[in-house]
Amino acid sequence: MNDLIYRKHISIKKFGQNFLINKKIIEKIIKKINLIKNDNIIEIGPGFGALTFPICSFVKKMTVLEIDENIVFFLLKSIFFKKINVILTDVMKFNFIYFFSDKKNILYRFIGNLPYNISSCFFLSTIRYVQNIYDMHFMFQKEVANRLLASPGNKEYGRLSIIAQHFYCIKSIINVNKCNFFPIPKVDSIFLQFIPRKIHPQYKIEKYFFALELITRYAFQHRRKFLNKNLSKLFSKNQLFSLGINPYVRAENISVSQYFLLAKEFLKIKN
Ligand code: SAM
Repeated sequence: MNDLIYRKHISIKKFGQNFLINKKIIEKIIKKINLIKNDNIIEIGPGFGALTFPICSFVKKMTVLEIDENIVFFLLKSIFFKKINVILTDVMKFNFIYFFSDKKNILYRFIGNLPYNISSCFFLSTIRYVQNIYDMHFMFQKEVANRLLASPGNKEYGRLSIIAQHFYCIKSIINVNKCNFFPIPKVDSIFLQFIPRKIHPQYKIEKYFFALELITRYAFQHRRKFLNKNLSKLFSKNQLFSLGINPYVRAENISVSQYFLLAKEFLKIKN
């Protein structure tokens, strides 16, 4: 077999097409998601239905967003086509806010074996509409998953960990070895669960996202320097002390809740 051809389809690298092929892993994943009939599922990158088809046997209807028109064509010909609302789109350009606008009070469950090249960006973009999300289950490359899960003091702990953990409670569900995909990618993956923390009303989400983005960018600018140096443009040493934050530690030693305090202070001064 050609190492790129799967189901007569030439796997497209730029779309991160590494298809999940181990039925046992798929079964485990589906079990862990705890699907029920009335779930409102949105799947990102359904591919050849590795997760989509098993999900269809639980839920009444689901929406899938796929960029590859050959795959969309395949899905529309599948036996589950009546259950799948297939949208041919680049998920990075898809207007979720508009999509949710006429579906007030519906909470969605996002699922996906995310294409590695957009995984962090797409994940971060979900924060804008976190109020519409019940939970999310995504497969990430191990290295990105470890950054999402990292705690302070750890070398993987950084901007992504802080922003992600501020908005979501994140749990590792299953480690997935790279041999379970076709074509075999370079690295292993981890399937993660995200539960929104819902600490902010909708109108404050963008503000906090912006503040955390900015503060962590400055804080981690020079990883070896102390916080008082890295954050000097945003906060004085005394301000840090008054928030209970030691200015003589490094960015990686500050907890997510301390970054939240910094964001709150930043927004208070700015307004
Ligand atoms: N869910 C399938 C599986 O587990 O076998 C496929 C997963 S594969 C890692 C990623 C899928 O996302 C592919 O079907 C790919 O075509 C699709 N994809 C890649 N980039 C995308 C984008 N920007 N928007 C929507 N779908 C995308």
